[in-house]
Amino acid sequence: MKTFEHVYPRLSVVLILIGALTMACSMRDINTEPDKRQLRKMAAEKAKAEEEKAKAEMEKAKTAAENAIPAHNNLHSTLWVQTAAEYDALTRQAYAAAQVSLLAGLKDRKWTAAPVEQTEKFSNLPPAVILDIDETVLDNSPYQARLVAEGGSFNPDTWAEWCKEERAKAVPGALEFIQFAASKGVKVFYVSNRDASLEEATRNNLKALGFPIDEDIDVVLLKKEEDNWGSKKGTRRTVVAQQFRVVMMFGDNLGDFTDDYKTSRAARDQVVEDNKSYWGERWIMLPNPTYGSWQGAIFDFNAPKDARDRVEGKFDALQK
Ligand SMILES: [Mg+2]
Repeated sequence: MKTFEHVYPRLSVVLILIGALTMACSMRDINTEPDKRQLRKMAAEKAKAEEEKAKAEMEKAKTAAENAIPAHNNLHSTLWVQTAAEYDALTRQAYAAAQVSLLAGLKDRKWTAAPVEQTEKFSNLPPAVILDIDETVLDNSPYQARLVAEGGSFNPDTWAEWCKEERAKAVPGALEFIQFAASKGVKVFYVSNRDASLEEATRNNLKALGFPIDEDIDVVLLKKEEDNWGSKKGTRRTVVAQQFRVVMMFGDNLGDFTDDYKTSRAARDQVVEDNKSYWGERWIMLPNPTYGSWQGAIFDFNAPKDARDRVEGKFDALQK
């Protein structure tokens, strides 16, 4: 039979072991409990930082949206016409080169700038030049600038108001060329798609700037002055070509030279190529990035009515 004395040492060992085990467990608790708290604290701090970051980004986006300047479709092109010295250089370059061509054309009686309309014998006809008015002779960029500033788009009523102000300035180089041509005995015709109702204001504006306007015959041929004088200018070019040898033509639009302009972009490019011998010699194109049949061609001459849709269509037409 085991006595207490026999059992005691063993019990002591067991108790010691239990004590050691308990202490070890306590130590573990002491070591792990702060880690958990630390982790929880770190997680909370991280979540808070992320929340603050998201909030700051939202504030930043909100401020950017509030400060954003709405960019009108025509802001860049109108500014270029109005402020770029390069624009002035281009138009002056075109008209200066035109003086050289004019002298060559005056000498050569077989020379005509109207291959489609000049159908009769023309060698002995007196010489003439045909110029478009808007963005060829007169600079209407202030009208475009108003549309940009007010967020508007072309409207026949506001356009007529602008024309009646008679405040358009001359396209750089145009006056010098036209005065030069007139001094050489060349008849100067202005063929424009301004409405016939704007003829008086148009004449006043041109005269005030010093552009010669002969009075013996009508040299300002506007749209719908006659029943068959539509947007296509061929019928008016024909009227001129019946009485004059057309030495040169000037415009900012393909339609100022040919009636073949309301077609696809590829077909328009082809028309330009087919007439390559005319450009820079008998046909002088002036730059106009603000409007023109080039824009119509983007939409196959069926532009959406909604301004936002038109802008989207232009994005779609970008060649990347
Ligand atoms: Mg024009």
